[in-house]
Order: sequence, then structure tokens, then C-alpha cells
Amino acid sequence: MQCTIIGAGIIGLSIGWELARSGHTVTLVDPEPAGGATHAAAGMLAAVTEFHRQEADLLALSVPSAAGWPQWARDLEAATGLGTGYASPGTLVVAADAADREALADLAAAQRAAGLRIGELGTAAARAAEPLLAPRLAGAFSAPGDAQADPRRTARALLGAVEAEPRARVLRQRATAVVPCRGGWSVQVGTGGPENRVWADEVVLATGVGRPGYGSAELGIGGLPERWRRPVRPIHGDVMRLRPTSASWPPAGPTVRALVDGQGVYILPRSDGEVVVGATEREDLQDGVSVEGAHRLLRDALRVMPALGRFELLEATARARPGTPDNLPLLGRIAPGLIAATGFHRHGVLLSVAAAAAVSALVGPATTGRPRHPPPAALDPHGLDPFDPWRFS
Ligand SMILES: Cc1cc2nc3c(=O)[nH]c(=O)nc-3n(C[C@H](O)[C@H](O)[C@H](O)COP(=O)(O)OP(=O)(O)OC[C@H]3O[C@@H](n4cnc5c(N)ncnc54)[C@H](O)[C@@H]3O)c2cc1C
Repeated sequence: MQCTIIGAGIIGLSIGWELARSGHTVTLVDPEPAGGATHAAAGMLAAVTEFHRQEADLLALSVPSAAGWPQWARDLEAATGLGTGYASPGTLVVAADAADREALADLAAAQRAAGLRIGELGTAAARAAEPLLAPRLAGAFSAPGDAQADPRRTARALLGAVEAEPRARVLRQRATAVVPCRGGWSVQVGTGGPENRVWADEVVLATGVGRPGYGSAELGIGGLPERWRRPVRPIHGDVMRLRPTSASWPPAGPTVRALVDGQGVYILPRSDGEVVVGATEREDLQDGVSVEGAHRLLRDALRVMPALGRFELLEATARARPGTPDNLPLLGRIAPGLIAATGFHRHGVLLSVAAAAAVSALVGPATTGRPRHPPPAALDPHGLDPFDPWRFS
């Protein structure tokens, strides 16, 4: 099959690599691969601590995706020699005061009821696991199964893997329209002249937030079915990157998530010394970093890990997450030959492996005689119903 994927963020790249290594012919179209939300993401692969009661349907994707990540990271490294930063140091969840502890205990009970593994830990045990934690915390929990990857490194590896496939290419251009043509679709890129049309049996829309709005016109890609609504809205996140100096110790390893006066903050140490502090959730349409957001993140992070005050601030970044009204992705067929894989909101890095497996199953096997590999995530096809891209139309 000829497959064209519009959008080369973590979702489009993962789908592109999975289809290419399965023997399909793949064209990825994106003026700035991995320049969207993927560039900002911390990379928590947190099926447990990202679980919220209202998002229980997400477990059908998050649990198999988290389980598939280690093999995915190994395969990617074997194919490219490039690392993904995958590590599984677990997550500590800490409470700043008694009210925060109560809220976290409630959430942990809901997570356990959903079959996820999280246990209460004394604050002394939490400080033994992460000595940089503040001495006065009100409670601590441990989710040993949560993992992490570095989205920028993963995207670089995926791009390298796609470009190394003989039947795959990346066009650094914007897609402007899809037009039914010869039993498939012609995707117009750039100015859309005849030399700028790519024919495909299957087109995958992996545009992230793209341009916000409901229909084809707002997205800036003409020709999508008129009745299909795409309620993807930008939910901006600010995130900071720090590193220890000669006057400070690096954190020990686990990701620390904290509730401070009812607001969440996370501190994610990477093996290369970088520490990611995130993230706000804003719906104010401000593309740049919010001063208030950055202030709040650093203030709350310092409350649970005062030693961060001696670190160097390397970077403050903001990007828009692709949010949907029910916080679930749009993943499935829009029309024959047209697939949606967008709206991954806070979880696109975690869910990228499941997205690749789901789209690969929709497209079906290639006929190139390449040896088949097992799907990267073991999805239950019935579990995908809640993600029907037509549910808002
Ligand atoms: C601050 C922050 C922290 C986050 N932390 C985490 C985390 O810890 N764990 C996690 O799992 N997720 C996290 N996320 C969420 C995650 O980043 C997103 O869910 C994920 O990046 C979505 O991937 P995507 O490929 O759909 O979108 P994007 O990464 O935004 O990529 C979309 C791509 O589509 C391209 N595009 C758009 N329109 C067109 C067009 N017309 N033609 C061609 N190309 C087009 C864009 O250029 C872009 O490259 C975080 C997000 C933010 C902002």
C-alpha cells in the first residue's frame, strides 16, 4: 500500500515507521517534523499516574502502549543506533500538605480500583528513594511501573528510521488538501502544483492540534468530509528544562509528581542530567511561555525539591497539546482510505506505540513478502470504539 501521513510529530512518525518497517510505501508530510507538542513533551510514560477517573476508556490504549514501549525502544535503537532515553525508574507521587495528601489518596484508590499498581509509601521511604525531596511533605505514594522516554531523542530516532527505509520519505512541506483520485487520495502539498501531489491508498491525519477548529477549512487542509467534525483545541503547556551545576547534586532517578495546594507539578530527571519541570495546562491561546505559568511551576517544584534552586535554568518552552472534549484521541477511519490519529492531548508520547499498532491494523499487511513482526502493542479491537473519530460529528 502507498500511505501518506500528514504530520510528523511523535504520532505521525511512529505510525510512519511502523508502516514502513511492515513493507508499506510511506510518505510523511510536515514542514517542521517534531516541532509541535512533541518538542515540549516531558516524555512520561505514565499509564498509572496519568489515570483520571473520567478517562477510564484510555486504559484500552495506555496499558498496552506502556507495555509495548520497551520493545519499541529496543527495535528503534537496533534500527538506527540512536537512543530514545527509555528508562523505568518509577514515579514517586508526593503531597505538600494534608489536603493534597487526601486528594492523592483518593486518586490512588481509583487507580488501584482500575487495576493499576500504586501503593502508599512513608515520606521517609520516599526521601530514601529521592534524597533531594523536601523534609516536610505530608504523604507519598509509589507507582513503580511508570516509565519515561525523551521525546526529542525518540523523534530523532524515528525520523532516522523512516529515512533509512528504502520505501519511505519525508517531505518537509505543509499539506493543503486531500482529493479523491483513482480509488485513493491525492494529497496536495506546498503550492499544490502537479509536481506537488502525492497519491496514496491510505492517508493518515496526524496533524496534532494543527490549526484549531472543527472542520477542514480551519485545519487548512481542504477536501476532508464536510460532515466530519474535528473538535481539537489547543491546550498550551509550559515546561522548563534545568540542569545541576557544580554546586548541586542531581536527583536520584524516579520521576517526582507532586500536588501543591491542589495543583500538579512534575520533576523528571533524565540520565544525561537534564531535569524537566512541568507542566501547565492553559486554554488562553498564548503560544509563548506564560510568566505566571513558569513562576508557578518553579515555585511548586522548589517547594517539594528545594535543591533545584541551585540548578541552571536551560530552557522554557510552550507548545499546544491537541485536546478533545472528552480528552480521548480521534483514532480510526474517517472514510475509505482516510484515517484520523489526532487529539492525543496529554498522552501522545505514551500512546504513540498504541497509535502505531492501531493504524497498522487498519491499513493491513503489506504484500512485499517482508517477514512480519508482532504488533508493537497488543490492542483489543473492541476497546478502540471510544476513540471513533466520528463521535462528535
Ligand atoms: C508541555 C507538554 C508536556 C507534555 N508531556 C507529555 C508527557 O510527559 N507524556 C506524554 O505522553 N505526552 C506529553 N505531552 C503531550 C504530547 O506532547 C502530545 O500528545 C503529542 O506530542 C501529540 O503528538 P502529535 O504527533 O499528535 O502532535 P504534534 O507533536 O503537535 O505534531 C503534529 C505535527 O503535525 C504537523 N502539521 C500540522 N498541520 C500540518 C499540515 N497541514 N501539513 C503537514 N504537517 C502538519 C505539525 O507541523 C507537527 O509537527 C506533553 C505536551 C506538552 C505541551
